[in-house]
Amino acid sequence: MTLSMRRYRRQAERIERRGGVAVTRAGLNPILAVGLVGAVLGLAWSRGALPSWLPIAPPPKFITVQGRLVAVPAPAKGAVRVLPPVAVATSGSHAFLYVTASGAPIGFDPCRPIRYVVRPDGAPAAGDQLIAEAVAVISSATGLAFVDAGYTSEEPLLDRPLVQARYGDGWAPVLFGWSDEGTDPELAGPTAGLGGVSVVPAATGPGEFLAGGRVLLDAPDLTAILASPDGYARARAVVVHEVAHVVGLDHVADAGELMAPAMGALTALGPGDRAGLALVGQVPCDGA
Ligand SMILES: [Zn+2]
Repeated sequence: MTLSMRRYRRQAERIERRGGVAVTRAGLNPILAVGLVGAVLGLAWSRGALPSWLPIAPPPKFITVQGRLVAVPAPAKGAVRVLPPVAVATSGSHAFLYVTASGAPIGFDPCRPIRYVVRPDGAPAAGDQLIAEAVAVISSATGLAFVDAGYTSEEPLLDRPLVQARYGDGWAPVLFGWSDEGTDPELAGPTAGLGGVSVVPAATGPGEFLAGGRVLLDAPDLTAILASPDGYARARAVVVHEVAHVVGLDHVADAGELMAPAMGALTALGPGDRAGLALVGQVPCDGA
């Protein structure tokens, strides 16, 4: 195992979808007719078929997440981006973890900040700084806003629940956690990190967005990288690679890109990485 050939793997999860609106039973009385009209209007609204001036709140969409029926969180009011989009100014190899039927990338809703939490247990001294700087790199390359939501005690499990009481309503934030190959066999050998994310339905319309997400970092591997020449920049590049997975980038074969599965001495995003990150940050907002 050499430090110059770290391999990465992604962990991509999909959750079971259950579309449509919740329907309640009603008897044959005048309220039924009103209820039916409401249901039809609601269904039309949920499919974007109603004019926006109608003062009707969209019905919640329910999906099954890990065996639990949960309401898809409502979109941000006004559907305004938190940060401006990033123009594509470079070209090169890039690939997306998830695409729509027409091939467009599926990304996070750019009208909501992406919250992230850190489980600091077992982190190297530079751990928090590595994560904060990697998140800043991805934020400026995507035009997606991130919010540091503090520390958590949540274990960085492969199948982490997408909805958790500890985080309140809505999708769980992105989780950064430190581990090692003894605790997590997925980190065996030269794998220094794992990044993955889930796909969830939009609250409005038929679209999909990324949500949740997890970055598992191998503390012994990254501690060794940090002690090598140019170690801090190389360790940060590992975390940038994993956060790029979280926002929807997949591996590419081009060794000149940070999204190559085995990274050499690269410490900065390549031209294809930048193009892919800009595109995944340009998806239309939920509710737009
Ligand atoms: Zn990877």
